Amino acid sequence: MILETFPVGPLACNCTLMGDQESGEAIVIDPGDEVGRIHRRLTELGLNLKQIIVTHAHIDHIGGALRLKKLTGAPVLLNEDDLPLLKMMGQQASWVGQATPEIAPPDQYLTDGQTVGLERYPAKVIHTPGHSQGSVCLHFAPLKLLIAGDTLFEGSIGRTDLPGGNFDQIIESIHSRLLPLPDETRVLTGHGPETTIGAERRTNPFLCGR
Ligand SMILES: [Zn+2]
Repeated sequence: MILETFPVGPLACNCTLMGDQESGEAIVIDPGDEVGRIHRRLTELGLNLKQIIVTHAHIDHIGGALRLKKLTGAPVLLNEDDLPLLKMMGQQASWVGQATPEIAPPDQYLTDGQTVGLERYPAKVIHTPGHSQGSVCLHFAPLKLLIAGDTLFEGSIGRTDLPGGNFDQIIESIHSRLLPLPDETRVLTGHGPETTIGAERRTNPFLCGR
């Protein structure tokens, strides 16, 4: 298995590329920016892109999705509840002082419990609203791996002060949907270092004492 996570764009969104050398297929999660670099890496590895999965429709996570789709033909997957954020892309761009990226409606909606990813490395979609209404995490159970988007960070949680954000809801999402996962689950976060479910259950100040 190929698993590469690297920060892209001015807000350093962690983009993840997962590939299977046997099938020659790959998925990319959160291509927020630097699409040329992502596409070059896929080419270097000789992988065909099967899905572009976006954890939520903030500009730093979705900004490059349409360009990557145009280069590869892969469909873009997003939860329907983030369509209002998608429509606010011009406003999002002005918040962060960037040009408005070209966007389009997703090709498929991500729904809770749906299986996505590669045949040998499937992931279950976990809907975790709170950072945004359509925020999702991806759980690759056999790999003991969680892609958490901006829901859970090392020692922190996603901000809830942007449109669609809700503090009580993100806390509930994390407690009910993420903390029940096995302690050893590796968590690739949307920004910054990776962590584990066990470490966050024990030490995350937003999650302790409940
Ligand atoms: Zn975000």
